[in-house]
Amino acid sequence: MITVKTFMLGSIATNCHIVYIGGSDVIAVDIGGEPEKLLRFLNDNKLNLTKIFLTHGHYDHIGGVYDVQKATNAKVYIHELDISMLSDAQSNLAFWIEPTADFKPVTEYITVKDGDVIDAGDISFTVLHTPGHTPGSVCYMSEDVLLTGDTLFNMSRGRTDFPGGSDEQMLSSFRRLKKLEGDYRVFPGHNGSTTLEFERKNNPVMRGII
Ligand SMILES: [Zn+2]
Ligand SMILES: [Zn+2]
Repeated sequence: MITVKTFMLGSIATNCHIVYIGGSDVIAVDIGGEPEKLLRFLNDNKLNLTKIFLTHGHYDHIGGVYDVQKATNAKVYIHELDISMLSDAQSNLAFWIEPTADFKPVTEYITVKDGDVIDAGDISFTVLHTPGHTPGSVCYMSEDVLLTGDTLFNMSRGRTDFPGGSDEQMLSSFRRLKKLEGDYRVFPGHNGSTTLEFERKNNPVMRGII
């Protein structure tokens, strides 16, 4: 079973999931801030961060990426529709989430699209494009793990009232997640983890759609 360790980082305590991919190699999913905290953990545990997967481009998910990338040389992955958020403090909402932030643009990245398979150590991740919260929101799926960013939360869904958000797209993304075969451990961008089967049965938005 894949090991996932979750930190809450940055000004609004966004989840940063560390996924163990074999040996001492790990990847990070979203780094919202406090890069020094993550770097200390990697160092203390002699872990090698090879990749940073971004579920979308909002500041509270990318605020720590620049410093961690600089220190580790990890490759950064983001959906092409959220690229502008890596460099624009308006579009990534930094000005709103943390007005005093010293935002450092991320200029080196690899773009992903729906269906891409990313090999990382012993495991591979499939990219699911799940727009709604932002145009380029994605989930990363591997074995029984589903990293859902700000799309699917425990018992709720991500907001759609930010620029580029869409209710209609959010619902179709939820339909897609609901129809995935089998069960997954779900690791969202905020709050606690859950499972897809629990959400199918209990999440009001999932229950309300076919
Ligand atoms: Zn967001
Ligand atoms: Zn968020």
